[in-house]
Amino acid sequence: MRASRESGLNGAARRTVVVVIVLLMCLIGVSPARAAPVSDPNNYWVLVNKTRPLNPLRYVPPDRVNWAGTGHWMRRDVASAVTQLFGGARSAGHSLGVVSAYRSYDEQAALYDHYVRTYGQTEADRISARPGHSEHQTGLAVDVGNTAGQCELAGCFGDTPGGRWVAANAHRYGFIVRYPKGYTHITGYTYEPWHLRYVGVPLATDMKNRGIPTMEQYFSVPANPSIRSAADVAAADSAGTLWNYPGNLQGGFAPRTRIGSGWTGLKSGFVADWNSDGVNDLVGQWKTGRLTVYLGRASGGFLSPMTVGNAGWQSMTITVGKWHNGHRYPGVVGYDSAGTLFYYPNPSGAALGARQAIGGGWQGLKLTMADFDNDRREDMLVTRATGALILYRSNGAGRFVSEPRRQVDSGWNAIVQSHAAAGFDGAGTRGLIAKATDGRLIYRGLGTNKFLGSRVVGSGWGSLSVFR
Ligand SMILES: [Zn+2]
Repeated sequence: MRASRESGLNGAARRTVVVVIVLLMCLIGVSPARAAPVSDPNNYWVLVNKTRPLNPLRYVPPDRVNWAGTGHWMRRDVASAVTQLFGGARSAGHSLGVVSAYRSYDEQAALYDHYVRTYGQTEADRISARPGHSEHQTGLAVDVGNTAGQCELAGCFGDTPGGRWVAANAHRYGFIVRYPKGYTHITGYTYEPWHLRYVGVPLATDMKNRGIPTMEQYFSVPANPSIRSAADVAAADSAGTLWNYPGNLQGGFAPRTRIGSGWTGLKSGFVADWNSDGVNDLVGQWKTGRLTVYLGRASGGFLSPMTVGNAGWQSMTITVGKWHNGHRYPGVVGYDSAGTLFYYPNPSGAALGARQAIGGGWQGLKLTMADFDNDRREDMLVTRATGALILYRSNGAGRFVSEPRRQVDSGWNAIVQSHAAAGFDGAGTRGLIAKATDGRLIYRGLGTNKFLGSRVVGSGWGSLSVFR
C-alpha cells in the first residue's frame, strides 16, 4: 500500500517536472536569450560605449607598444595591424598616418573636461567619451588620417580617396569603422570615418560580409549558437560533415543538426569556448599539422577559421580545456612524439602563447581532461595500454599535484576517446561521454572522486569522429 502510494506520487512529481521543462523550452524558443556582449577589456571583442564602461574603469592595456616610434601607443597586435593596413593603403596609392591612439583614463578625463568647458556637457557627450568609457582607453582604437592632412578628424575624411579605401578595406586587417554614418542612435556617436577599432580579422570580416554595421547590433542578435551546451556532442562523419547532437539535458540527445562540411583530414577536434564569450567554439587539429579555431557566433554558425598553431601539430596528442585556473581562456595540453607533455596557454582568446613542459614519458597514453575530484581544477585521466585509467590531479596552476598516481577505473582499452560533459543528465550533473571500439557511445556520471554508473547512450558511432 505504502509502496504504490509512493510510486504514484513519484509519477505525479515526474509529470510536473516534465511539464515545467517543456514550458521552459517553449519560453526559450519564443523569446531567445540575447548574446552576451564581451566585457573582458583584454578581449579584442570588448564592447565599450556610453552605457558600457570599461571594467575596471581605470583599465590599462597590458601590452602597449609605441607604434613606429611616433609616440602613439596601442596594443601590440593593433600596432602590427596598423602597419599592415597602411602598407595596403600605400600599395593602393594612399598615404595614411595615425592621428591619435591610446589615451589613459586621466588623459580622457582632461579631454572630456576641455570639451565640457568649451561646448557644454550635451555637445561634449556627443563628440567625446567620459573617462572609462572611451575605446581609446582599450588600446584597440586608432584615429587615422591622410598624411597630407586633408579632413583630419572631420566627416569629410570619409569622402577622401584614403578614407574611402579605409572603409572598403579595413576589415581585411581586423578593423571596423566603429561609428558609421546614420547610426548615432545606436553607437551614441556622430559619424567618425577616421575612428578605427581593432576587433581582429574574423569578426571584422564577418560584420562586413553580413552587413552588420555596429558592434552593438552584432552583439544583440538572438542567441542560437550551433553548440548550445557542454551536454552536446559534435562529431564529423566519414564524408566530412560536422554534426551537433544536442544534449536534451535528460540523459539523451535531441535530433542532430548539421554544422558544416569539409571536416575531413582531421586528426582530432575539440569543443571549447576559446575566447570566453559564452559561445562554444571548435578547435581542429589537422593532419596537415595546423591547429585552427572556429569561433562560434551567438546567432549560430562559425567565423572563418583562425590558425592558432602553424605546424607540427599532426604528431601531437592533445586535449583542450581550462587547464590553468588563473588563465581566462582555455589552452591546450598535449605531448609530442618524444613523449614530453606541454601546456600551451591561450593568453588572449586568439593565438597560443609559449608552451611550458610539464612532464615526460607520455608516449602512447590517451588523455581526457576532466575535474575528477570535483575541486574545480581540471585533472588528467590517462589511459594506459593495459586499459587502466590513472588519475593525474592538477594543482590548478598548470602542473600536476605531486602524489602517488591512483587507478580509478579499468577496461579503458575499449574506449577510443572520451570527453567531459556537463548537464547531460540535468542541471548540475557532470560526467564523461566516451566512444567505445564497438561504436557505442557511453555516458559515465561523475561524482566526487568516483564514477556514478555507466550506460549506453548511442550506437553506430564507429565512423564518427567525436569532438572532445
Ligand atoms: Zn577616436
